[in-house]
Amino acid sequence: MHGNPLLILLCNMRDISFARKTNSDVLGALAREVERTKFYSTKDHSGEESTIVGFDERMLLHEEVHTKGQIHAVEKTSSVRIWYLSGDTYTNQHSSDAAKLAAAICSDLATTIFKGEAKNGFALVRPPGHHAGVSKSTGFCLHNNAAVAASAAKEMSAKKILILDWDVHHGNGTQEIFDADRSVLYISIHRFDRGKFYPPTGAADKVGVKGAKGYSVNIPWNRAGVGDCDYLSAFKHIVIPIARQFSPELTIVSAGFDAARGDPLGLCDVTPRYYAEMTSMLASICGKLLVILEGGYNLRSISASAKAVVEVLLGGDPAGVRKLEPSISGLETIREVLRHPK
Ligand SMILES: [Zn+2]
Repeated sequence: MHGNPLLILLCNMRDISFARKTNSDVLGALAREVERTKFYSTKDHSGEESTIVGFDERMLLHEEVHTKGQIHAVEKTSSVRIWYLSGDTYTNQHSSDAAKLAAAICSDLATTIFKGEAKNGFALVRPPGHHAGVSKSTGFCLHNNAAVAASAAKEMSAKKILILDWDVHHGNGTQEIFDADRSVLYISIHRFDRGKFYPPTGAADKVGVKGAKGYSVNIPWNRAGVGDCDYLSAFKHIVIPIARQFSPELTIVSAGFDAARGDPLGLCDVTPRYYAEMTSMLASICGKLLVILEGGYNLRSISASAKAVVEVLLGGDPAGVRKLEPSISGLETIREVLRHPK
């Protein structure tokens, strides 16, 4: 028997505004919207349950996620008012603690779900994580939260973990961390625009390295405006069949909502109803689902999308979706992906 159907942990530290686009306003808007579902109160399950005490030690134990040098570089930013870890990733003196708390929350939620103490979890965290690689913080990301969560589950003896990344940007950090690891299947759906969209990684032929070829799956869209029909087709023809074959013990969603309708960076067109449908399809894979917030730059879009996801995690049925055919360009991408080894 599972305990809580859903456990939401909120990274609610004050003054974590390390970058204008990834500040605590996002968390406040999401928390308020989720509370409007009337099902759940984030107040009862705030970030107090996770702490950063002793977390350095835990991060270092997960050597395959980040190098000691990367952890040290983030740590050092706490002594200066502003610092640039890369051209787009700047910090203030609170950023390092916020990043540690975000990673700790994801680690704790992964452990809780894997042990069966909660069926699902939603980590409302900032900063996001999926661009943070083995030795570099970039793309507003300091530590890789999804990778830390996967490593925590592996520490608990998980042998197979699926990370599904539907953020509109390729999770280059996550793929780098697990590119040679057969125990983590990484599937990313993102805009690619033939290498012109940030980051210029995630082509369909990048399927993993060494003995893990086929354990990274990239679904790269080559245009703006990609919407429900293409996402649903990618799920039906690629994500779900591969995920079922892999049969994970835990599914982690790198849930950026910057492919949502109205997002000024992603310029795509995924609606809340289809985020709900994708969540429901993923929940059917192994029943243990951890959703981690990544990017998203329109408060209204991310709030409505996150609410739709939470309602499914709480057991709600997504409102019926229309069976839509993929666009011609979407179909080309799906065919290209299917040509590579899985
Ligand atoms: Zn993104």
